[in-house]
Amino acid sequence: MRASQYLLATVKETPSDAETASHQLMIRAGLIRKLATGLYTWLPLGLRVLRKVTDIVRDEMDKAGAMEVSMPVVQPAELWLETGRWQTMGPELLRFTDRHERDFCLGPTHEEVITDLVRNEINSYRQLPANLYQIQTKFRDERRPRFGVMRAREFTMKDAYSFHMDQASLDQTYQQMHTTYSAIFSRLGLDFRPVAADSGNIGGNTSHEFHVLADSGEDEIVFSSDGSYAANMEMATGGLPPLPQESTLRAPQEVATSDAHSIEDLCAFLSVEATSCIKTLVVLGCDAEGEKTGELVALFLRGDQTLNETKAAKLTHVASPLEFADDELIQKALGCKPGALGPSTKFAYSYADHSVTDLTNFVCGANKDDTHLVDANWDDTTRFHEAVDIRCVQEGDISPDGKGTLAVKRGIEVGHIFQLGDKYSAALKATALDENGKSVVMSMGCYGIGVTRVVAACIEQNHDQHGIIWPENIAPFQLVIVQVDAHKSELVCTVSEDIYQLAQSLGIEVLLDDRDKKTSPGVKFADSELIGIPHRLVISPRSLADGVIEYKRRGADDKQLLATETIHAFITTLASGADS
Ligand code: ATP
Ligand code: MG
Repeated sequence: MRASQYLLATVKETPSDAETASHQLMIRAGLIRKLATGLYTWLPLGLRVLRKVTDIVRDEMDKAGAMEVSMPVVQPAELWLETGRWQTMGPELLRFTDRHERDFCLGPTHEEVITDLVRNEINSYRQLPANLYQIQTKFRDERRPRFGVMRAREFTMKDAYSFHMDQASLDQTYQQMHTTYSAIFSRLGLDFRPVAADSGNIGGNTSHEFHVLADSGEDEIVFSSDGSYAANMEMATGGLPPLPQESTLRAPQEVATSDAHSIEDLCAFLSVEATSCIKTLVVLGCDAEGEKTGELVALFLRGDQTLNETKAAKLTHVASPLEFADDELIQKALGCKPGALGPSTKFAYSYADHSVTDLTNFVCGANKDDTHLVDANWDDTTRFHEAVDIRCVQEGDISPDGKGTLAVKRGIEVGHIFQLGDKYSAALKATALDENGKSVVMSMGCYGIGVTRVVAACIEQNHDQHGIIWPENIAPFQLVIVQVDAHKSELVCTVSEDIYQLAQSLGIEVLLDDRDKKTSPGVKFADSELIGIPHRLVISPRSLADGVIEYKRRGADDKQLLATETIHAFITTLASGADS
């Protein structure tokens, strides 16, 4: 490819609305352009990268025996009504009507459509297991589209769905997809971690997320120091290092604390540590069917701990999604402001996090405005119904398997594998006959990769102050040949042409920067660094006069001078894939 005839849309200025390095660099290097919020055009250079990611994903999925299909982006409402998601999906699902007033949506995911396909096409155990995938556009009307293609509204996903006669078969394919995902992200050159994830209300340890480690990541992921435990923050459990407690229980005393509006204020005012305070959060309860009631449920946590809302929302007596009681409701039901709440008998139910169950002589709200108790202890009135785990783990906690301590890092979720069980197959009546002719509801797994997000995540991990540093496997070009002062030197033209032709004939993806004198050498160098092409040769009159060609590996500190007569051998080595 000749730069003079290529849409190299590099820009110098950092776009003002781009917060993350990858978003800035994708715009600056001319990979993408914004059309509207969360909608991006992929320019030629960006599309080359995206294609490479897609090819690797497709290759590994095919190797795993998955079968590629392509389903429509536009989906009829009827299928979503059958699973109930037409009602439950909320505004992320973009709905519209056609000219016949029929309801449709843009597919945010394809469980409904694939299950409809499979219920029609597969009816015998002989056709199972089956794993079907596509690499295709999704639309989600995200509440907060941001970071460019990282959280877009329209994006490309590889989504796969597997169908099985039984759990054992689902387990097998799930494991295989876990292995396949590891192979994909390794080939993409990413530093990634699979972590156990919350599988919603389906239960069990049947979901894993694949995270690319990056400080700009939106998610928190948790690992044990010996690597034997990894989970996302929603799911992670850990032990708190034990704190010595006084065995002599004192009598509680009320203290006026009108100036203390936070745990920090309270600790400063009473000269105590947050670890000896209990904070009380109040949420709405639910009945046996899970329906929200007006009753209030208390959640007690140690002062230095934070509530894990995912864990709390799963508690039997807590309404899901989690809803905090507002001040008015608290005042009416409990007779004080939220800041003065503490354990009492007035709650419909109360859960104590394990961090507080062993505390003695602690500080808590006195259920009376501007008043706290010091030296409180658990008893008949200061009580809880159940001890549970409802806190977010913290750096330094003890790993749940007892092996070492936990570290918390940030990650970008690039993949998600999930055992769905019969959630969709039961709703859509996707059944198959077993060996005995008995009809069985199929079990399902689903497996997603954010293909466009992977490109951004890769840049988050591979860049410096000059631009992108592409891993070899997904670089838009392997080699860039920069012509310097070609208008002054015929030799520069012939030598660079010669190398260009040779590289092309050997199958190297090469960009010849033959832009004319209006583009200065400085701009050409800066562009090559910004775009992040792994190998660069500079052909200049001065170096040719010295019988050398300058070579630089993107990301390396030093340049090398190659004797002109060795350049053919150099290109041949490059073509054979050996790193020079
Ligand atoms: P997130 O928690 O980031 O919103 P999700 O749980 O909604 O992700 P899934 O439904 O599991 O995501 O989708 C599979 C994959 O698609 C994700 O792992 C992610 O890589 C990608 N993805 C999801 N939403 C977006 C988006 N708005 N833009 C780009 N990629 C996305
Ligand atoms: Mg989402």
